[in-house]
Amino acid sequence: MSKAFTARAPGRVNLIGEHTDYNGGWVLPAALSVGIEVSLTPRADSAVTVSSLNYAAPAMRELTEDAVGDWSDPCVGAICEANSLGLLEGGASLDVSSTIPEGSGLSSSAALIVAILKAARQAAGSDLSDVDLAIAARRVENEYMGVPCGIMDQMAVALASPGSAMALDTKSLDWEILPLPAGHEMVVVHSGLTRKLTEGRYGERKAECDAAKRHFGTEDLCLLDPGEIEAAGLDDVPKRRALHCATEHQRTLAAAKALRDGDVAALGRLMNESHASMRDLFEMSLPEIDDLVATSVGLGALGARLTGGGFGGCIVACVPANERGVWLAELLKRHPQARFIDAARPS
Ligand code: ADP
Ligand code: MG
Repeated sequence: MSKAFTARAPGRVNLIGEHTDYNGGWVLPAALSVGIEVSLTPRADSAVTVSSLNYAAPAMRELTEDAVGDWSDPCVGAICEANSLGLLEGGASLDVSSTIPEGSGLSSSAALIVAILKAARQAAGSDLSDVDLAIAARRVENEYMGVPCGIMDQMAVALASPGSAMALDTKSLDWEILPLPAGHEMVVVHSGLTRKLTEGRYGERKAECDAAKRHFGTEDLCLLDPGEIEAAGLDDVPKRRALHCATEHQRTLAAAKALRDGDVAALGRLMNESHASMRDLFEMSLPEIDDLVATSVGLGALGARLTGGGFGGCIVACVPANERGVWLAELLKRHPQARFIDAARPS
C-alpha cells in the first residue's frame, strides 16, 4: 500500500484590509486555531478520490476533469496543480477533516488547497517554499475554480501561525509578523449567513474595481489618493468602490502601526471605519451583519467589522479579554442565529 502524507493549514481572520489584495494594497490577517487537516495518498492512476467529514458521500473524480461546481473542485484543482509543479505524477486519495466553517470568510478553500499542496510537497520531498505554494494555491482558485480572489488567503494560511498578525503587502509579497493587542481578543463570530465566492457578487465587485482601474490606467487602486478619486469624474459606483480600496489600504497601514505601537484604541476605531466603508462604499455587507457589528460595539467591543469576502460569513470584534465571556453571552442572546467560532489572541 502507498504511504499517506498529512498536512494541516489554519483558517485565518482578516483584521482589516478587505478587497485590497487584488488592488495593490495591504491586508492584516491572523491565523486561527481552527484548521483543515489532509491526508494524501498518491495513486498510480489518474483518479482523485476525496472523503470529507463535511460530506456524506466521497467524491470520485478524474485529474483531467474541469471544475464542475462540486465541493470537491478545490481538491481536484490542487491535485492538478501538484502535477504541474512536479510534486505528484497522477491522482491521489484524500481524507479531509476540518474545523473551519465553509463559506464564512475564514479561508476554508485556501486552507484546504494549501494543506493538499503541503502534503504533496512532503510526498515529493521537495523544497518548494511556502510562498511558492501560496502562489500555486491562488492559481487553483483563479484558474481552475474561476474565483477571482487575491493572494491574501493563501499567503496567510501557508505562512502565518496562531498568536500574531501578518501585515502583508500584496504587491511585493513582503510581510511583517506583528503582535496582537495585549489583554484583548479578536473574537470571530459567525453571522449565521453563508455565501459562496462562486455565487458571483465577489466577481461583480472585482469587475467594478477593474472598471475603475481602466479609468485611472493603474492596477493599484489602493495606491491612489482619495482626493484624486473624488475629483476624477468617475460614475458613482466605480468611484465608491475605488474610494473604499484607497481608504481601506490607508486604514490597514494605520492598523499595522497601531499593532506595532500597542495602540488598541486606534485599532478599534480603524475597524469601525472599515466596516462603515464596506457597508456604504463597497456595499458588501448585509443588514443582519450591520446589526451584529453595531451590537458588538454597543456591548463594549473597541471595534468590530465584517471580515472576509462579504455578503455573509463572520464578523471580527476587538474585545478586552476579561470582558469576553459576558460580552459574548449577551451578543449571542441578542442574535440567536450567530455563533462563536474562534478568537485570535497574543501567544
Ligand atoms: P471560504 O474560503 O470563505 O470558507 P469558499 O466558498 O471560498 O469559502 O470555499 C468553500 C469551499 O471549499 C467549499 O464549497 C468546498 O469546495 C471547499 N471546502 C472547504 N472545507 C471543506 C471540507 N472540510 N471538506 C471538503 N471541501 C471543503
Ligand atoms: Mg475561499
